[in-house]
Parts: sequence; structure tokens; C-alpha cells
Amino acid sequence: MSAYARVRGLEMDWGDSSDQATFRDDVASFIESRLPEYYRRLAEQGDQGDWQTDRFLGDDEAKAAAAEWEAAVHERGWVAPHWPQEYGGAGMSSMEHFILNEEMSKAGAPQVGGQGVAMLGPTLIVHGTDEQKSKFLTATLNGDIAWAQGYSEPSAGSDLASLQTRAIRDGDEWVVNGQKIWTSNAHRADWIFALVRTDPDAPKHRGISFMLMDMETPGISVRPLISGGWRHFSNETFYEDVRVPATQVVGEVNRGWYVGMTLLDYERSSIGGAVEMERQLMAAIEYIHDDEGAEKSRVDELPSVRAEIADRYIEIQVSFNLSFRIASMQASGLIPNMEASMGKVFSSEVSQRVHRTGTRMFGLYSNVWDEDSEYSPYRSRFTQNYFHRIPATIAGGTSEIQRNIIATRGLGLPRG
Ligand SMILES: Cc1cc2nc3c(=O)[nH]c(=O)nc-3n(C[C@H](O)[C@H](O)[C@H](O)COP(=O)(O)OP(=O)(O)OC[C@H]3O[C@@H](n4cnc5c(N)ncnc54)[C@H](O)[C@@H]3O)c2cc1C
Repeated sequence: MSAYARVRGLEMDWGDSSDQATFRDDVASFIESRLPEYYRRLAEQGDQGDWQTDRFLGDDEAKAAAAEWEAAVHERGWVAPHWPQEYGGAGMSSMEHFILNEEMSKAGAPQVGGQGVAMLGPTLIVHGTDEQKSKFLTATLNGDIAWAQGYSEPSAGSDLASLQTRAIRDGDEWVVNGQKIWTSNAHRADWIFALVRTDPDAPKHRGISFMLMDMETPGISVRPLISGGWRHFSNETFYEDVRVPATQVVGEVNRGWYVGMTLLDYERSSIGGAVEMERQLMAAIEYIHDDEGAEKSRVDELPSVRAEIADRYIEIQVSFNLSFRIASMQASGLIPNMEASMGKVFSSEVSQRVHRTGTRMFGLYSNVWDEDSEYSPYRSRFTQNYFHRIPATIAGGTSEIQRNIIATRGLGLPRG
């Protein structure tokens, strides 16, 4: 199919079918009745809670809210919308999953489940042994095991297949030595799924295996990486003579690259990003209409800021439409490829611009970082998020790599 036909050929249906409308109402009323007060309050302030952070590091109220919300979502069977029902998932269609994510984001309700549910579960369902499935799937779904993803290394990020962390077979075990970097949540993970090199002589994609490691295994250590916004989210992880039972390799040895690429009908639209940006922008617009916001706002003095806000609003709508296109493709049985890259590059870059525009709304007040300061505008949300969003164009594949995918795989341009 030509690039033009691929881009233009898909009819998009914007309305909900009656089943989808019923499902949307069901999700909305579930959220209305079960979302804990803590998350409602955050949403009213333009924030979205982070379940994974709250459950481990939050204060008592945040921890209780995370547990209560997880129990509610679990009760509905919605922790793993995309897993088949036989494994405890909801077996949702991609459009239902899209609606669920959209409604959750509208309400500022955090997703539960983390990387284990999003990434590892589908991989185990396709490639895991019966023993691996029974040991890990339910425990992951119940939140008893939190997972980190150990793919990137200091010299292997965009070119991931160059990874060097080495595993050597010794009897019934593998002995792992090496280093991973940007290992998000490793400091609060129980287990890690990692790609390691098991055959250094094979072509680089073919000598890699997919391995599960208990973070308590002797030889694993974690060193924090503090972000420019003073958050501890990522880590370096080190592996020194870590002994891993051979039963913890998922799929065939040396075929781990292909195991790691499994996505299993994962809803790829990232609709939550567009909805969250709109929620934040609209909450800020509301804020500049109240007394405190009006005093700190520069919007009435600066027409250029008003124009910027309008531009951001347009971009958020475009971002929503790109997400909807991806969901529509998945609903039609197509696999979004360059479309997913378009969505990723556009929404991550817009999210940076939204927060930069947000800081311009409040002029010098935006220099205040402390959200509790009397001078802080809109609880310093835009100031802080301006920093927190910097990695958005790196994590999950950089903007340059996404543009390469669009140009070569999507538009058929030469690789150069
Ligand atoms: C917040 C955050 C969380 C992350 N979480 C995880 C995690 O949990 N687990 C995990 O395994 N990894 C994680 N990562 C790592 C992430 O996947 C990598 O950072 C990303 O793939 C880029 O790799 P790199 O950092 O090595 O940069 P590099 O690949 O070294 O790239 C450096 C620069 O060169 C550019 N570049 C590289 N190759 C090309 C090319 N072919 N054409 C044009 N430009 C190119 C890149 O776009 C970038 O600007 C995380 C990263 C961040 C920032």
C-alpha cells in the first residue's frame, strides 16, 4: 500500500456506537462512584495521581487512596484491559480500551498496574511457560509483584540491540554481569525483566535473551538518577555475578529480541496524554478567572500569550485526533506503525510546549518552584511540569528515532 493510501485510506468514525456509548457511561459512573477523594482533589487542581508512586512512597492518605482505587479497578476486572479473560484480563477491544483510558484521564484517575501489566504480562501470555504464567501473571495483576524494565544501557538506547550486559550459562543457571540505565521504578520494583546478551558471536539481534530477575538476588544493586525536576524516578542498575535460574528465561534462548517486542493488542493511542493536557490547560484558564489567578496572570496584558494558548489548544485537538486515528486503525485490525510514531512525537512535543506556555501565562511568578509559596501561580504546576516533561521526547524512543520511522518505514524515504 502506498504511503498516501495508508494515510488517507482509512475512514474514521467519530461517534460512539450504542454499545460503546453504554460502555462509556458505565466507565464514567464507575469513576464517579469509586474514585477516592484524594484523586478527585488532585484532578480539580489539574493534577493526575501516580498510583505506582503513591502506593510505595505516598503519605498515608495517598497510600490508602492507591490501595482503594486498585481494589475498585480490580473488582471490575479492568486492571489489565488488554489481557485475555482467561488470564484475568478484561479482554477489551482496542476501542473499549481507548474509551476506558479516555474516561480515566478525563477524571484524572491514575492507571493501576504499572509496567508489569502493560508490558510483561502480554509477553508472558505469548511466550511464557505454564510455570512462568502461573507464578507471575496473577501476582502481577494483583499488584503483589511490581516490575521494572531493564533494556537500556549506557551505550545502548536508540540502538538497543547493541546491548552488552552478558549472561553466561553455568549448569542450571545463568550468571549475569553488566549495567542497565534509566531503569524506571527499579527502586520500588520486586522483579525486573531484562534483555541480556547470551551469544556475543551471533548477529546482534540474534544473541539476546529475555530474562526475569528477582531484585533481591545477590549481586543486583540500584543507584538513583535524580531528574532535573528533583524527582527520583529512574536508576542505574548494576549486575555482578547475578545467578539466575535457567527457568527464568522467557521464550527461546537467543530469541529474546523478538520476545521483547511483543505487544499483544496493546492500545497504542496514548489518548491519556491529549486528555490530560486539555484538562490542565482548561484548569489553568479557570484559575486565571478567580481572584488569585487574575492577580498573577499576564494573559490580559500580553496578546502573544493569548495567541500561544490558542495554538496549544489547537495542538491538543490535533493530538487527540492522531490518537483517535490510531485507535480507529487498531479497531479495524490494522497495526499502527508510523501512525504510532506520529502520535508519540507530536504529543510529547506538544506537552512540552503546553507547559512552557503555562509558565508564560504567569510571567515572573512562574519562577516560583515551591507550590506552597504564596507567590506560586497555579501551585507551580506549569513550572514544575516544564521540567518534568523534558524526558518526554526521549523516553520510549526519542523524537529523532520516531521521525526516522515516519520517514523510512512510513514514507519510504531512503535510509541514507
Ligand atoms: C524518563 C526516562 C525513563 C526511561 N525508562 C526506561 C526504562 O524503564 N527501562 C529502559 O530500559 N529504558 C528506559 N529509558 C531509556 C530510553 O528508552 C532511552 O533513553 C532512549 O531509547 C534513548 O536512548 P539513549 O538515552 O541511549 O540515547 P541515544 O540513543 O544515545 O541518543 C542520543 C541522541 O542521539 C539521537 N539519535 C540516536 N540514534 C539516532 C539516529 N539513528 N538518527 C537520528 N538521531 C539519533 C537521539 O535521538 C538522541 O537525541 C528511559 C528514558 C527516560 C528519559
